[in-house]
Amino acid sequence: MTSTSATAVLFQNVSRHFGTVRAVDGVDFEIGQGEFFAMLGPSGSGKTTCLRLIAGFEQPTAGHIEIFGETAEGLAPNRRDVNTVFQDYALFPHMTVLNNVAYALMVRGVPRAEREKRAREALSLVRLEGMDARRPAQLSGGQRQRVALARALVNRPKVLLLDEPLGALDLKLREEMQEELRRLHKQLGLTFVFVTHDQGEALSMADRVAVFNKGRIVQVGTPEDIYQRPTTRFVADFVGSSNILTPDQAPRFGGVSRWTSLRPESILIGAAADAMDVRQTAEVIDQQFQGAMRKTRLKINGLEICAMAPASQTLGVGQAATVGWSHGALHAMDGEGNDV
Ligand code: ATP
Repeated sequence: MTSTSATAVLFQNVSRHFGTVRAVDGVDFEIGQGEFFAMLGPSGSGKTTCLRLIAGFEQPTAGHIEIFGETAEGLAPNRRDVNTVFQDYALFPHMTVLNNVAYALMVRGVPRAEREKRAREALSLVRLEGMDARRPAQLSGGQRQRVALARALVNRPKVLLLDEPLGALDLKLREEMQEELRRLHKQLGLTFVFVTHDQGEALSMADRVAVFNKGRIVQVGTPEDIYQRPTTRFVADFVGSSNILTPDQAPRFGGVSRWTSLRPESILIGAAADAMDVRQTAEVIDQQFQGAMRKTRLKINGLEICAMAPASQTLGVGQAATVGWSHGALHAMDGEGNDV
């Protein structure tokens, strides 16, 4: 992999070890200019360390990093065209919103009138006009998050690094801020690198997702690739929930002798199953109402399988039901990579 003029960030075989801990272990990826790139993985899988390597807060133990074609090793954080939004926002509690946002410009010696003008512009970008004089304690969690965003944008970086920026917000606010971030990304045309352990967030927001496990990237692709064509059991399991069939079990479900993923929403129950390629009889173990759907546990071929039924489809425990799925719903994978 070599960088091109369209490359914002390039990692070539990058490792960052802390003593015996291989936080990042031989990672390769390329992030295009203007891309919304998500790093997704369980806790401790090396996502934040990768972000800190891009920001310059960490140096690689081995490998090579480029930012816009320039070698990043040894380059101080403030010499890189990148800025970070931290999960805990890291706002100065004693400063007003305006001064929090203008702070980085003050450090750079930008004259007061100019820095306040630019801070107000950044606040208007995140729709926080009129809050200039407040202090962080006088804001809601979502508003504080917007101040942190404005502060990261005021320097006009080319790459915005977001480390679990929505982790502290409740679900409703999280969804609002997800939309807000997508709007900002489109409006500004910047490169966004977003770290999260929430697969729904990564799938709904990013152009491409890198799935991490144990310091390595196990798959990179569009959200559709990652969800519909996971290459390993680990990805199928971590990204959404899936029924994982062993090479022994898969043929009984219409598949081939490989590790196979069968997504719950691909399994139809009752009359709807009649038109499917593979049809079997199942016993209903239980159903759980989840609003739009009913999560339905079934016993098929002696195995417990999870399906998603429409909310209107109520089934009795112990009832026999016809179930079916298409051949295309059976996705064969490599076996390795399941060690969460
Ligand atoms: P989380 O989602 O919990 O933030 P993560 O995927 O971002 O996890 P990292 O923070 O990159 O993971 O950490 C990867 C591994 O490296 C972990 O085992 C962590 O304990 C270890 N690690 C990170 N920073 C250091 C450090 N400064 N010293 C020692 N070990 C570290």
